[in-house]
Amino acid sequence: KVVTRFAPSPTGFLHIGGARTALFNWLYARHCGGKFLLRIEDTDRARSTQAAIDAILDGMRWLALDWDEDVTYQASRADRHVEVAQALLASGNAYKCYASAEELAALREEQRAAGKPIRYDGRWRDRDPADAPEGAPFVVRLKAPKDGSMTIEDRVQGKVTVNNSEIDDFVLLRSDGTPTYMLAVVVDDHDMGVTHVIRGDDHLNNAFRQIPIMQAMGWDVPVYAHVPLIHGPDGAKLSKRHGALGVDAYRDEMGYLPEAIDNYLLRLGWGHGDEEIISRDQAIEWFDLDGVGKSPSRFDFKKLANLNGHYIREADDDRLTDLVVPRLGFECTVEQRDLLRRTMPVLKPRATNLNELAEGAAFLFRTRPLKLDESAAALLEGDAATLLAEVHAALDVLVNWDTEALEDAVRNVAEAHELKLGKVAQPLRAALTGRKTSPGIFDVLALLGRDESLARIADQMA
Ligand code: GLU
Repeated sequence: KVVTRFAPSPTGFLHIGGARTALFNWLYARHCGGKFLLRIEDTDRARSTQAAIDAILDGMRWLALDWDEDVTYQASRADRHVEVAQALLASGNAYKCYASAEELAALREEQRAAGKPIRYDGRWRDRDPADAPEGAPFVVRLKAPKDGSMTIEDRVQGKVTVNNSEIDDFVLLRSDGTPTYMLAVVVDDHDMGVTHVIRGDDHLNNAFRQIPIMQAMGWDVPVYAHVPLIHGPDGAKLSKRHGALGVDAYRDEMGYLPEAIDNYLLRLGWGHGDEEIISRDQAIEWFDLDGVGKSPSRFDFKKLANLNGHYIREADDDRLTDLVVPRLGFECTVEQRDLLRRTMPVLKPRATNLNELAEGAAFLFRTRPLKLDESAAALLEGDAATLLAEVHAALDVLVNWDTEALEDAVRNVAEAHELKLGKVAQPLRAALTGRKTSPGIFDVLALLGRDESLARIADQMA
């Protein structure tokens, strides 16, 4: 049975690259009918914060990446990590190294001066611990294989081989007895039954250190899939400016829907033919590691906006209304919320995020007399005011205030003056919304209603 995991370090928010790693792990587990586990790697006590943990859990829930079983907190498992280090010592697969910090600094300096790679030289590997001064501090190092090479059949990177001579005897337990990250990851993955490790390719080098620990313990080596990192549109490493932000920024500041983010992240580095819009069910059916690309994908805000626009058009009006209300900038009454909901169908077609929906809806709630923006004010210059007076008169007598009747009435005014409809609709729009752009003018009239519409027109009449 397939078991995947997402193992973030809670030293910051759930950033967009981490979210994609989580999504791939989630999808692969669901595709295989396996389990998706969440492990918080909080061993760096100084840098891990509860706020970061909360942000990660919150972001995962928002993206609907539900995990199976309880969250594993790595720090709480330190005793178990130490136990494994002791077992490795007992089996002769690890040893105590008494080299002092000064000694190791001197070694590094020597290697640097000689232009050699910086790595521990194994000076305590075969030395008798009895040589160490009484009570001297020590670290525990893995007795890593020295000869031959190690090959990973990575599901994304393909065959990757490293000479064992490149892997030094790295530290498992620090001199204060605490386990290192390298040890903790291996022990946790094993104990959690992880079968597939899907993570950023910045961890590929770590795999060559983690595998010897597993081999020394006689544990199964998981399947690896090291996914290329996300780059900015210019090909450089993703930076803040490019969108290397927490998913909360995509939700709160930028107003994206979670299904749009999921769909976008899925397509970022994974493909199924030319499909761009992929539902969750389809994603679960189709997702496989073979579809993950080998080269870094580039973040593209335009694509994300297009997808978000698609999901906004698909979304239920009530749900969108609830998401837009907090973006209006004032406390909504029940009636105002209802008006917003009724306006949603005409706002949806043009919006690519929730902020645009809120902006598009703003005309509904402006107070009279409207403050016109510059381009709208320009539309009301010249004889527009007289035209508006005629529109007012034509609308005032309408029995039915519905879009059909409204359209007829406005068209009649235009025809009487041998004007195109736009020549009347534009000043009318300016008067009704204070802006140059808005949903269709007859929709605007219908939504604002008779009294409010006539009053706004009257405000701008000659
Ligand atoms: N905690 C690591 C990170 O946040 C991930 C470790 C792993 O996936 O093996 O980058």
